[in-house]
Amino acid sequence: MNLDHLNDKQREAAMHIDGPLLILAGAGSGKTSTMTHRIAYLVEQGVAPWNILAVTFTNKAAGEMKSRVEDLVGDTRGMWIMTFHAMCLRILRQNPEIVGYEKNFVIYDTTDQKTLVKNILKEKGISEKEYSPQYLLAAISHSKEKGLGPAEVKAQSSEGYRTNVICGVYEAYQKALRQNNAMDFDDILLNCLRLFQKDEGVLLQYQERFRYIMVDEYQDTNHIQYELVAMLAAGHHNLCVVGDDDQCIYQWRGADIRNILDFEEDFPETKVIKLEQNYRSVGNILAAAHSVICNNRGRKNKKLWTTRDAGSKIIYQRLEHDGAEAGYIAREIESLHRKGRPLTDFAILYRTNAQSRIFETVLSRYAVPYRVLSGMRYYDRKEVKDAMAYLRLVVNPKDDLSLRRIINEPKRGMGPKTVDKIAAFAQVRGESLLEALCAEEVQETLPGKAYDKVCDLVMTLATCRRERENLTVLEIYETLLDKSGYLEALEQARTIEAEGRIENLMEFRTVITDYEKSAENPTIEEFMENLTLAAEVDNYDENQDTVTLMTMHSAKGMEFPVVFMPGMEDGLFPGNKAFDSSDAMEEERRLCYVGMTRAKELLYLTSAEQRTRYGRTEYTRESQFLRELDKNLVKGSDVYQQRASHGGPGVSTGSYDGFKEKPYKPFDSLKYARMSTKQTAAGGDTDLAPGDRVRHNKFGTGMVVENNGKIIQIMFDEVGLKKMAVGVAPLKKL
Ligand code: ATP
Ligand code: MG
Repeated sequence: MNLDHLNDKQREAAMHIDGPLLILAGAGSGKTSTMTHRIAYLVEQGVAPWNILAVTFTNKAAGEMKSRVEDLVGDTRGMWIMTFHAMCLRILRQNPEIVGYEKNFVIYDTTDQKTLVKNILKEKGISEKEYSPQYLLAAISHSKEKGLGPAEVKAQSSEGYRTNVICGVYEAYQKALRQNNAMDFDDILLNCLRLFQKDEGVLLQYQERFRYIMVDEYQDTNHIQYELVAMLAAGHHNLCVVGDDDQCIYQWRGADIRNILDFEEDFPETKVIKLEQNYRSVGNILAAAHSVICNNRGRKNKKLWTTRDAGSKIIYQRLEHDGAEAGYIAREIESLHRKGRPLTDFAILYRTNAQSRIFETVLSRYAVPYRVLSGMRYYDRKEVKDAMAYLRLVVNPKDDLSLRRIINEPKRGMGPKTVDKIAAFAQVRGESLLEALCAEEVQETLPGKAYDKVCDLVMTLATCRRERENLTVLEIYETLLDKSGYLEALEQARTIEAEGRIENLMEFRTVITDYEKSAENPTIEEFMENLTLAAEVDNYDENQDTVTLMTMHSAKGMEFPVVFMPGMEDGLFPGNKAFDSSDAMEEERRLCYVGMTRAKELLYLTSAEQRTRYGRTEYTRESQFLRELDKNLVKGSDVYQQRASHGGPGVSTGSYDGFKEKPYKPFDSLKYARMSTKQTAAGGDTDLAPGDRVRHNKFGTGMVVENNGKIIQIMFDEVGLKKMAVGVAPLKKL
């Protein structure tokens, strides 16, 4: 094993394989690289692959680590290199009965959770306005992160109406999950922990198996994750954790920075290795990031150094409004791209998911291909959720929530009242909704039209379930879309919206085929599981040349030659809440540090004087983090320095006189972007006739099949038939 390209400290860490090891180091110092080399070294030392467990936080990071290890040792079979959630899920799948679940339990995501809570509120007669589902779910999630059940929460909180509501909903929520044989994301971790606590035999088996355990991004572990790791490592004590206290950005989700700071106490005889050389970024970027993070008090003092040259200064631009900001970034990308940089070099990292929309719009206008890496964006769409509900019912017929979702999608004359009645009947008989629907007593009560349609639905689901081992996932999907009447209903709607939905459903086929191509033994169960776990990254394909868009949170661990951080404004980044507490401000500042240290060569910070959020256009003030930044490292900082000085001596107040919240003024922030894209022919060609060859940004080349002036149908060489809106779709005639 060649550890030559590691530095001395890194090599020392890679070769320390017995006993607890803490690698505490700043961004880009090679923590993750050291860990992958360590895995390779273990294999070379004769450690069996199945004795190795490496856990990270995101699917992307896990995939990345796996492929890096593969590059080093050729084969990762048997090793568990995955996220915490995937690990726990795999363990739970083996013995779900220990924690009271049946084999085919399903996972509920945010939207499912919300629906569930809404139903509960309705049943309990509590108004959603008073107790929003989000608020309640956050409270529930918080309790679960601490491992507290409803009764324990009640015991620990002060008496009162609020406590009663929260605990009541929490209890009903857990009960409903159980009834549906479902878990939410927090449950995955919690139930795995319970499984270990309940069954020592199983725990022992995993302790025995995982002789070498590694955790990347350890600073972001929460209490439950900490417990899980500690329990697993109690067997062999070969635990290596890697992290950076400056990059803890998930405290709002229960991450406990103490887990890393107290590691040495928790695991006596820990060897601590610090890495201080940064290999990622040029000097100016490193120094700039440091000038921001050193404003945090609660941190271990450390400073990174690099042998790389200073590189370009950080570029700062304040634009007139958010549309202009997006336009500026698009033009910078275009011009650097023309000079030879591939698009994969660029990342736009924003604070909130909602910011992606304007970049998506503007980049499309500039015909710059991009990808959004984020939460369940695509999967949040109604039609995709519906399709997933159908698929889930094939896997788990007891999933009442999914059945409720689609029982009247398409319309089957099954209004909520009818469904409630059937649900009551099901409850009495202790059956699931679907089982109840099969009962003659129920079917008899249905109105004539509904009767036929419901029978069809029940039949279709039953057939797919029965045949699920003989059919491919794609076949099941197409059968469901077709036989359920879902696709037909959309086709009959003949609206642009319905066309879009059809396009999304077709895109889902790509998701399925990708899975079927990559899986060893594809099954619908595994497919659904992957899908639910694909919480952050969807169809991200490294091989395509595209710009990457994502939140700073999801960018952790990644690196890009050129990084744009838009929206450097108080109230957006740092967010409003940060001004209420210094802890919150410090967490935002760590996030800023994470964002900046993703950049290897060029870092752009931008802000907009006017920004439209939630339909209101407001004047903004430049971000506090800009004011903290060492001005000598910034090009363009004169803009904010001048303005800041209006406010008096010292730049710390940073506001300029013009800053006042102005009354709402409708403002088309896209106007600017549109004006400045004349040369790229907004939208794309419209005079396309059947037989014409065309190129689409995303789907590649294809042939026009039909064009009715509004909707154009194209048979693409790679992805098949697509329908899109004429003039909107970025099509070029060839
Ligand atoms: P983060 O804190 O962002 O997760 P990290 O500490 O995990 O960063 P890596 O992603 O492992 O850092 O490495 C950062 C970059 O430095 C990578 O491009 C990696 O290839 C490079 N690198 C790491 N170690 C060395 C080395 N010894 N020599 C040359 N390049 C290195
Ligand atoms: Mg890393």
